[in-house]
Amino acid sequence: MRNLVILGGGTGGTIAANRLRRRLARAAWNVTVVDQDDDHLYQPGLLLLPFGGYNAEDLIRPRRRYLSDDVDLVLADVDQVDADASQVRLHGGQMLDYDYLVIATGTSPRPDQTPGMLGDHWQRSIFDFYTLGGAEALRRRLATWTGGRLVVHVVEMPIKCPVAPLEFTFLADAYFAERELRDAVDITYVTPLDGAFTKPVAAGRLGGMLDDRGIALETDFIVDRVDGDRHMLVSMDEREVPYDLLVTVPLNMGADYIARSGLGDELNYVPVDKHTLQSKRHTNIFAIGDANDIPTSKAGSVTHFSVDTFVDNFVDHVHGRPMSRSFDGHANCFVESGRGNAMLIDFNYDTEPLPGKYPLPLLGPFTLLEESHLNHWGKLGFRWAYWNVLLPGHPMPVPTAMSMAGKQQGV
Ligand SMILES: Cc1cc2nc3c(=O)[nH]c(=O)nc-3n(C[C@H](O)[C@H](O)[C@H](O)COP(=O)(O)OP(=O)(O)OC[C@H]3O[C@@H](n4cnc5c(N)ncnc54)[C@H](O)[C@@H]3O)c2cc1C
Repeated sequence: MRNLVILGGGTGGTIAANRLRRRLARAAWNVTVVDQDDDHLYQPGLLLLPFGGYNAEDLIRPRRRYLSDDVDLVLADVDQVDADASQVRLHGGQMLDYDYLVIATGTSPRPDQTPGMLGDHWQRSIFDFYTLGGAEALRRRLATWTGGRLVVHVVEMPIKCPVAPLEFTFLADAYFAERELRDAVDITYVTPLDGAFTKPVAAGRLGGMLDDRGIALETDFIVDRVDGDRHMLVSMDEREVPYDLLVTVPLNMGADYIARSGLGDELNYVPVDKHTLQSKRHTNIFAIGDANDIPTSKAGSVTHFSVDTFVDNFVDHVHGRPMSRSFDGHANCFVESGRGNAMLIDFNYDTEPLPGKYPLPLLGPFTLLEESHLNHWGKLGFRWAYWNVLLPGHPMPVPTAMSMAGKQQGV
């Protein structure tokens, strides 16, 4: 028997396990998924939870339920990978031998990496919403907050779902307006980028939306420390941004075992070929989803599209054939903008988000880079598709590779 071990049973690990289980002969292959716990969290829901949109019970389901019966699930923390011996050591000492390893342990917020962020003020005046505990604590704080300076802040790129902090900012504007508190709240968006977003056309549109809502934008802000006692964000070039309530997206990093195993870069992301997701150092290791270093957004959509191509390539590879497919960096994200609206952006390694229409049979077309109610319903409806179509590994009605159909060029 050959052993395929998949580290991480989140979005990518679950889809890959279910799809590969169907493609690899049961008599010849064991497929094992390792995760630290049995709680599969629908992370896009963390955006709405602070505003009362969801409760924890709406977002968590048992991992086991979403894995095919003939995939083994081991619940344990990964301690180290010995790539030379093709072995994984788990906390507690259990060893797993593998013929092929898929790393799918994602990325996590690390508030410990910014001086002053963790400590007495954490979850009192400084919050994150990228974790369930953080989003729940923020919801309690927002419910009783009566106004002041709200600063939404990104420490450094890359982060997963790079539009999420902008979405949070738009939703905060709408939330305070609905509670008739908007005049009592100053909102500032603080980013290390030189504009509201990474890509020029989208950065222009999103920056305009901040402007329209009276939200200040502080760019090129490389944070040095948080001075919690003075309620001040301080940059490397000694600029200061005062806050009463700081909502930050801490530095995102891959799992620490990747560093311990000598498999990652300085942020613990696994260097891979950006078209096949194969490790640059070990031909029997692949890294999928947020865990790798490919130069596109870290997002569930990217995970989904790239796993589509990865599964075919993996099957080619283990049968001794050249890998036949090439991932194009396709990313596709709804951007909630408040008041029942959202935008849609669609791009890849070579093409930045452009305006126009995104065709989708029956439901679409959705509008690109422009707000609409339909986009908002598309975003909300995705939760159902995530559990019922995407995770089980069924085909989604959207093309894997980015298409230029409907996009306006030369804008
Ligand atoms: C607030 C928020 C909003 C988002 N909104 C969107 C959106 O609208 N659209 C979109 O496309 N994407 C969105 N995302 C991003 C999306 O959730 C991720 O990109 C996607 O889940 C990545 O999948 P993954 O499999 O790489 O990682 P994950 O789904 O995060 O899975 C990683 C798994 O690895 C496990 N793990 C980690 N370390 C270890 C260890 N040492 N040992 C054992 N197990 C371990 C974890 O428990 C986890 O189950 C959002 C994310 C956040 C936080």
